[in-house]
Amino acid sequence: MRTAQIMDSDGYAIGKIICIGRNYAEHIRELGNETPEAPVIFIKPASSVIGEGETIVIPEYSRDCHHEAELALLIGTGGKNIPIEKALEHVAGYGVAIDLTLRDVQADLKKKGLPWEIAKGFDTACPLSRFTPAERVPDPQNLRIVLSVNGEIRQDGNTSMMIHSIPAIISHMSGIFTLEPGDVILTGTPSGVSQIVSGDSLTADIPGVATLTVTVG
Ligand code: MG
Repeated sequence: MRTAQIMDSDGYAIGKIICIGRNYAEHIRELGNETPEAPVIFIKPASSVIGEGETIVIPEYSRDCHHEAELALLIGTGGKNIPIEKALEHVAGYGVAIDLTLRDVQADLKKKGLPWEIAKGFDTACPLSRFTPAERVPDPQNLRIVLSVNGEIRQDGNTSMMIHSIPAIISHMSGIFTLEPGDVILTGTPSGVSQIVSGDSLTADIPGVATLTVTVG
């Protein structure tokens, strides 16, 4: 079983990975999506996680895999219907993830009104860094997120640009899914998503918090 590694501790077995879509206005614009009234939520299975130095395998049924760099939250204390004011107390650590998305497959599923799992939950679809303990991240709502491909910056955003704040996301999600220790929350991606191809090296970086490098097989 994969574990979420926290600096200076043994970490947690990874549970469900709950993701929010369309949480940065610029990214909604670049894909031509409408801004949803309620957050768009989906889940990746724990089996989709890979770690530092591992290899992304793009499924054969796609010709267009995109990177989405995102702040990742590791839940340390579970809960149901968590109030916004208490939400950050449930976070054990902060890291960076890449929400890999088969954009061509997702576009087809969206058109047909079908669920997204095969576009976002395939093996290797969730590269995930180690986590920095929450007490060392004084303001998670003001963190730079950078994603480079082969050394060239493609995404450069800041968590201050989120539509739904981190506490609001945790509170909302915990009303639908009981949160358990080891669950991971992905908080959405800033603009600049683009295609990756075989041989690419991706580095996702939240300076001072987490960094992650993976390659495309
Ligand atoms: Mg995403």
